[in-house]
Amino acid sequence: MTAREQPVQAAYLKFAGPDLDEATIAGVAEVLRSGQITSGPWVARFERQLEAFCGGRPVRALTSATAAIEVALQLCGVGPGDEVITGAQSFFTVLNMIVKVGAAPVFVDCDLVTRNIDLEEVEAAITPRTKAIIPTHFPGALVDLDALYALAKRRGLRVIEDAALVLGSRWRGRNVGAIGDIVTFSFHPNKNATSIEGGALVVNDLNEARRVETLRFHGITHLPDRTRDVAFPGGKFNLPDVNARIGCAQIERLPEFLARRRMLVDRYFADFVTDPACVLPPRPASADDAHSWNMFSILLPLERLSIDRSGFRNAMEARAIGTGVSYEALHLCTLGRRYGGREGQFPNAERIARETVTLPLHTRLREADVERVCEAAAAIIATAGK
Ligand SMILES: *Cc1c(COP(=O)(O)O)cnc(C)c1O
Repeated sequence: MTAREQPVQAAYLKFAGPDLDEATIAGVAEVLRSGQITSGPWVARFERQLEAFCGGRPVRALTSATAAIEVALQLCGVGPGDEVITGAQSFFTVLNMIVKVGAAPVFVDCDLVTRNIDLEEVEAAITPRTKAIIPTHFPGALVDLDALYALAKRRGLRVIEDAALVLGSRWRGRNVGAIGDIVTFSFHPNKNATSIEGGALVVNDLNEARRVETLRFHGITHLPDRTRDVAFPGGKFNLPDVNARIGCAQIERLPEFLARRRMLVDRYFADFVTDPACVLPPRPASADDAHSWNMFSILLPLERLSIDRSGFRNAMEARAIGTGVSYEALHLCTLGRRYGGREGQFPNAERIARETVTLPLHTRLREADVERVCEAAAAIIATAGK
């Protein structure tokens, strides 16, 4: 067979990925040449940009959302003897950081479709030791912020919103981050805007912001005699300017990124039809609640299929389509089981963990790519139906 006769191999579709333009890359080279490469003016600029986005609330940049959650827990004074309530459906970070600061995670179940934590279960899980709640917002619908903050106020609890997936989502017309207690964002390459690695936390006032500055840089405070002191073992979570330079350019492009994600998700909702049917993500109730659409995750009808999830993912992979799993159930990982997690405890979180598949969604995807994903999933599920 000559090269001309070979079948056209469809381009591999990653399930997530960054969108960096040449101007940003040139901007990074400038920062590198400047000699000022770690935290400096670009971090300050990135933080002011994020503050404008968050309705003027103070924002501090860190090296990851993981660091932001750890610092947030420290800021709330969470430590040994305390309990933190969080969803059994979330990323490992949340569990890890609660344990890392010495507190005990207390899991609750989530809604099967929105995947957000069940606030009635949160209320029932509160004990005299409970210090904070960490809800993770999922694509398509936010945790009900009115009900969440009414509950937190009534029970005297701090809230750390894990908003890694929802940069650009709005609650009753306002950006996530513009209201609430502490809100954390991620700028990992799979998120809606990237700084390679990076994160940020939104806090309530300048006192908290100053405390974050200390906690992210060795715990150092400056004394009048120009020496330094450390009173608390701080971490090393300051974002370099190289990363902040990328972050600034990405936040400028965020409206364009969001529009593109929303357009691609509309295509998914129009074209994703399988028999037997999958459970699809929820659609925002109103235009005021526009959503970030960081991921498009479905639930496979496994009980009606002759293949398991990895069989489905392998078949997609064979068609050059990448997929992900978001997420495993936190209470059933080895660390979660150490805090009492056991099978059957949280039926929705466990069913999502078994059946979920994240399909390709990022700004470099074309509508024709989404059509290809939908056709592939429909064909694989039709063949595997029993
Ligand atoms: C990506 C992610 C994180 C962690 O973000 P990093 O910046 O990689 O630390 C936390 N929570 C959720 C829900 C995420 O998707």
